[in-house]
Amino acid sequence: MPVAGDVDDRVRDALEATGWPVYGVDVSISPRAYFDLLFEYWADGATFTVIEHDMVVHATALEELDACPYEWCAFPYRYGTHERHYGLGCAKFGEELIARNPDAMRRVGTMRDMNHPARHWCRLDAWLQGVVLPGSGEHMHRHERSVRHLGCGNSHGCIPS
Ligand SMILES: [Zn+2]
Ligand SMILES: [Zn+2]
Repeated sequence: MPVAGDVDDRVRDALEATGWPVYGVDVSISPRAYFDLLFEYWADGATFTVIEHDMVVHATALEELDACPYEWCAFPYRYGTHERHYGLGCAKFGEELIARNPDAMRRVGTMRDMNHPARHWCRLDAWLQGVVLPGSGEHMHRHERSVRHLGCGNSHGCIPS
């Protein structure tokens, strides 16, 4: 598992225990690097799964996502005061979903709010959900078993909405 940057041993061990190949990308170089990465994967168009750097997945999590017929799947985790937040912590995006929504990440890139400039990592999950889900007939499949979030989820001091 080539992992760039610092990753907690618990995160690394959990990923190794899944037996799946995982490719690590350091997005800490700028607040926009995470957006750029997702934009690139979206443009590429192939199915991909995101696992954020502070997520301790269960050993069967990636198998479960791979086997699931839904195209947008997420595991819940603790985030701020939310016990079961469904964001980008551990989420799969299928190629057909991407093909139906080819400009989704471009549109995400135009969004901003009072605490977050455009393309800021913190709001990408909410912005993507806001861009793709309303009125589109798309569905985010919510998996049951939580993954463990080591971080507090609000590390840059904004107020999560
Ligand atoms: Zn699913
Ligand atoms: Zn924030």
